[in-house]
Amino acid sequence: KGAISFKNVHFAYDPARPILKGISFEVPAGKTVAVVGPSGAGKSTLSRLLYRFYDVQSGTITIDNQDLRTVTQKSLRKVIGMVPQDTVLFNDTIAYNIRYGRPSASEGEVTTAAEIAQISDFIRHLPEGFETKVGERGLKLSGGEKQRVAIARTVLKAPPVLILDEATSALDTTTEREIQAALDIVSKNRTTLVIAHRLSTVIGADEIIVLKSGAIAERGTHADLLAQN
Ligand code: ADP
Ligand code: ADP
Repeated sequence: KGAISFKNVHFAYDPARPILKGISFEVPAGKTVAVVGPSGAGKSTLSRLLYRFYDVQSGTITIDNQDLRTVTQKSLRKVIGMVPQDTVLFNDTIAYNIRYGRPSASEGEVTTAAEIAQISDFIRHLPEGFETKVGERGLKLSGGEKQRVAIARTVLKAPPVLILDEATSALDTTTEREIQAALDIVSKNRTTLVIAHRLSTVIGADEIIVLKSGAIAERGTHADLLAQN
């Protein structure tokens, strides 16, 4: 479920300055496509269009053959899970933060999601910067731990489509490897669009698209791209 198709997509924030210049690619259901390329190439813009923060100016994006222009952002949010570069935590417990957007989730489901993301130890705590009425200090979470909260959210939501937008780029190498392993488990059998800044972090993708100045410069498997360069 959740096959994604971009067909000749054009987009500009400012009409005088085109950002995406005719992008076409597909993510077959359950597969992973990675988009890499230099900063400013338009990678995050692709993910924002898929989430319908903006609409395409020409061309078409579909999920399961349905034109995104006919889908509300509310219903898209049920289909798409996003792990962003920096996870913003709310002024409530980690458990609440995991449950965010899924108020009907049971206690047991939240606990299981926290276990899979390996953050069971602190789900009763508040994030740093927030305090309880009785003056309990919030817990300082590292960047990797915050990403684990985002992963637990995604496990709980279990969306057919997943966007990983530079989800490990702010982490040190060791943490990046650990979070990558957790993300590999979560994205298994989900239709996944990965936005990454380095080719070495997307070796396992079914296809890698190299975006340069809003156009596809190269595409193929990791091995294909290494052979071409
Ligand atoms: P990447 O993710 O590859 O770094 P982005 O998609 O974030 O690239 O940005 C592509 C271009 O669009 C950049 O030149 C950026 O400055 C511009 N841009 C991004 N967001 C906006 C916005 N909200 N308004 C205007 N320009 C934007
Ligand atoms: P930028 O990199 O330009 O700061 P982002 O890609 O982080 O932009 O986010 C673009 C917009 O999407 C912002 O308005 C942000 O609040 C929102 N956003 C980011 N992540 C999520 C998410 N997981 N769920 C809902 N909205 C999000």
